[in-house]
Order: sequence, then structure tokens, then C-alpha cells
Amino acid sequence: VIEAKKVSKWYGAFRALTDINLTVRKGERVVICGPSGSGKSTLIRCFNRLEAHQEGEITVNGIRLHSKMRDVAEVRKNVGMVFQHFNLFPHMTVLMNCMAAPMWIKGVPEAEARKLAIKFLERVHIPEQANKYPAQLSGGQQQRVAIARSLCMEPAVMLFDEPTSSLDPEMVAEVLDTMTSLARDGMTMVCVTHEMGFARSVADRVVFMDAGLIVEENKPHDFFTNPQHERTKLFLSQIL
Ligand code: ATP
Ligand code: MG
Repeated sequence: VIEAKKVSKWYGAFRALTDINLTVRKGERVVICGPSGSGKSTLIRCFNRLEAHQEGEITVNGIRLHSKMRDVAEVRKNVGMVFQHFNLFPHMTVLMNCMAAPMWIKGVPEAEARKLAIKFLERVHIPEQANKYPAQLSGGQQQRVAIARSLCMEPAVMLFDEPTSSLDPEMVAEVLDTMTSLARDGMTMVCVTHEMGFARSVADRVVFMDAGLIVEENKPHDFFTNPQHERTKLFLSQIL
């Protein structure tokens, strides 16, 4: 679903990504971890064209991302993204948050968009919150709405950027449970997270980044029990 080949990205003179090679196949769950500033967000933001890379090739669901692309919306239809800070539309109800993109971007008729929204709000176990506004929900509930909203676009892959980092501890589990259940259903997922328990139990592969490079990539068991690089060992010793 995602193929990145020798991808590099600069912010001005600063090189944020260097020669990144990463393949995510259909149904795979990939966790990306690494220290702050290592380029994790930058990389996954390149996958839905929130950021543009300058060198190398990225293909997402058969669409090649390049500087002359006219239709970024076409990419976004295929790629769902969940952010650390939810990014819900504050002036819309939960239901409308979920209906907006299918109606406006995909042209789904209102009645059908409503059905989809209810279906995915049920999927994340909060159909009863449909008529509230985001500010009336807990952080964990808001993040589950954000997940439902992405699912309403029926994307080929879901990207998560530290989806539990801004939640109070007691709400982390409900969001991780939702993500785990999506994974069990076969959703293709790329998750930037420091939740190593989630990585161990859900990921097919763990990717470790440092200073804009993929330093190491392995199956969770091998990654945690037998890290190959000093930088990975250091990171794991700090986080576990
Ligand atoms: P964190 O764990 O703190 O979220 P990260 O691994 O997601 O970190 P990125 O946000 O991808 O890191 O940032 C990678 C590097 O690129 C950092 O050094 C950051 O300062 C720089 N950077 C990120 N966004 C921009 C930007 N818009 N302009 C300039 N530099 C940026
Ligand atoms: Mg980040």
C-alpha cells in the first residue's frame, strides 16, 4: 500500500529525512518509534502529502506522490490520519465531523454519509455521543471520534501520529483498544507511538528512526529482545 524509496526531505537547509526506504503491505501494522526530532512525523506526513519530499519516490495505493501533482485530495481519500491533538472541527457535532469529508470530498449523499458515520461511531463504541460537540467529550472520546472520522473515508491505510500522547493516562487504554481492534480487523496501519506494549502485541514490524534515518527495522520480538544498534539500545533503555 505504501512504498517509499530513497526518500529525502529538507526544511530549508536542514535535512529532516535521509534516504528512507519503507514498504507497508496490505494488512500490515508498522510501528515507528525514535527520539524527539528524529523525523517520525515528517515521514508519515509525507505519506499523505501534508509535507512534500524532495528526493526519492513515494507511492501510496498506486498513486505516485510528486511535486507536480494536481490532485492531493485523491491521496487524502486513500489515507486516513489521526493526530496527537485530535484536530476535530470544534463548531461541528461529532456526527457532522464524521459526515463532512465523505460528503464534501467524495460526494457521498447525505443519508449515506450519516449511515457511515453511525456505523463507525458504533465501531469505536461512542454512537451515543453523535450529537455532542467535541468540547463536550473527554480526550479519549475525542480521539475515538477522530478515528471514526478517518474510517468514514474507508481509507486503504491509516496513519497515527502519537494518538495517545496528549491523553490522560486513564484514557490511553480506550484509544489503544480501538486501534488494536482495527488491527485485528485487518486494517493497514502505520503508527508513530511510544506505547511499546502496543508495538509488542500489535505490530508486524517496528521501525526505529534517529536523526532522519531508519536505523533499524525488525519484528517486535527481535526488536525488543535483540536490538542491533547502539542507538536503538540507548532509546529502549530510556523508554522501557
Ligand atoms: P517528536 O517525537 O517530537 O514528534 P518527530 O520524530 O516527529 O519528533 P519531526 O516533527 O518529524 O520529528 O521533526 C524532525 C525534524 O525536522 C526536527 O528537527 C524538527 O525540528 C524539524 N522540523 C519539523 N517540522 C519542521 C518545519 N515545518 N520547518 C522546519 N523544521 C521542521
Ligand atoms: Mg512527531
